[in-house]
Amino acid sequence: MNILVIGAGPAGLMFSSQIKKLNPDWHINIIEKNNQDESVGWGVVLPGRAPHHPANPLSYLSNHESLDAQYIEEFKLTHHNDSALTKTGVTLCGAERKSMVHELRQLCIGLGISIEYEKPASKLVDLQCNKYDLVVVSNGINHTSTYYKEALKPKVEFGKNRYMWYGTTKKFDEMNLIFKTKAKGIFVAHCYKYSSNMSTFVVECSEETYINSGLDEMSTQNAEAFIASVFEEELDGQTVISPKGLKWRNFMTLSHEQAYSDNIVLLGDALQSGHFSIGHGTTMAVVGAQMLVKSVYDHSDNIATALEDFNQNVMPVMQLFDQHASTSRLWFESVEDRMHLSTPELAQSFATRRNQLPPLPPALGQALEKALARGEK
Ligand SMILES: Cc1cc2nc3c(=O)[nH]c(=O)nc-3n(C[C@H](O)[C@H](O)[C@H](O)COP(=O)(O)OP(=O)(O)OC[C@H]3O[C@@H](n4cnc5c(N)ncnc54)[C@H](O)[C@@H]3O)c2cc1C
Repeated sequence: MNILVIGAGPAGLMFSSQIKKLNPDWHINIIEKNNQDESVGWGVVLPGRAPHHPANPLSYLSNHESLDAQYIEEFKLTHHNDSALTKTGVTLCGAERKSMVHELRQLCIGLGISIEYEKPASKLVDLQCNKYDLVVVSNGINHTSTYYKEALKPKVEFGKNRYMWYGTTKKFDEMNLIFKTKAKGIFVAHCYKYSSNMSTFVVECSEETYINSGLDEMSTQNAEAFIASVFEEELDGQTVISPKGLKWRNFMTLSHEQAYSDNIVLLGDALQSGHFSIGHGTTMAVVGAQMLVKSVYDHSDNIATALEDFNQNVMPVMQLFDQHASTSRLWFESVEDRMHLSTPELAQSFATRRNQLPPLPPALGQALEKALARGEK
């Protein structure tokens, strides 16, 4: 089998490594737009404790301990300068995205998969996809799939809030959600530790607040100083750091009605992206990758059947993810209406915002369990 994978992020790397383990003689080539060292963002939150949780990509790395991942068991919501602390009820894992991706790439290389850097796929038609048995498009939130507009029916939606993915040296031991009402508007920080000395610090605000506070016209440095002053107390006076080249933006949700066309299949964010406030994007990349591994493994004699099988199984899971992520995004976009609530009331509203939906973790657990039972069609 000859497979081309576009994008060396968690989705493409998880699929490549796991299918190669099952089929060492298959030829898999990954092409990646960026160079080896480039990676967007700081830390991400993953489910469970490595190596025990199958949806945590660190569980697939023999050297996961070297990543300095941090385990989190508490949730802290701060509002009106008052905090409510609760148990998360599950173990969460904060991990540095760059080292996680680096190690997943090493895993692939060790298995005999080639990765070509600084090789962006511009148009799928230029890649001569018919030369391959299978082309996996795992290039993140991207417009590439719009080349298949008719077949895949992509939908693009932009969130109303602006956000920025900052990092900070202040260590936040819990999953933190901090609401700050300032004269210029409301700012929300989502923050948690992801190594012994770093935390993720994602900040969002409405478009109006973004403009009223002057963030739209500030240099990167001035915006960092401004945000550090908004959250001065919680940051203990420490700074926030922007990832190279990243600007304040609106969250892009990319959804599809179908996961494949001919021998081309979408995976990870390229198939379905979801708002960062539910912290599930990487988990979805792992679950989707394992589902694709199962379909391709079980139907390796017929790729069309494999992709139809994948499509049937993956789309309901992706649609549920989309519903959870969109509900959560909308809760943050209308947060102004809840600023009069007390801290416990706001914490309650946050905790129950997705209660009308079927819960996501059991659905993912079932999908993953089925995907890992390979050979049982
Ligand atoms: C602010 C923020 C916070 C987040 N926090 C979390 C979190 O806490 N937990 C969580 O699980 N998820 C989180 N996510 C989501 C998570 O980062 C993504 O869901 C996840 O990285 C998806 O993996 P992927 O492999 O599909 O895409 P990506 O990680 O985006 O990887 C795609 C790869 O493809 C490459 N590429 C792009 N275009 C091309 C091209 N044309 N040709 C070749 N290569 C290309 C890119 O360089 C990249 O290496 C967050 C996202 C944001 C924006």
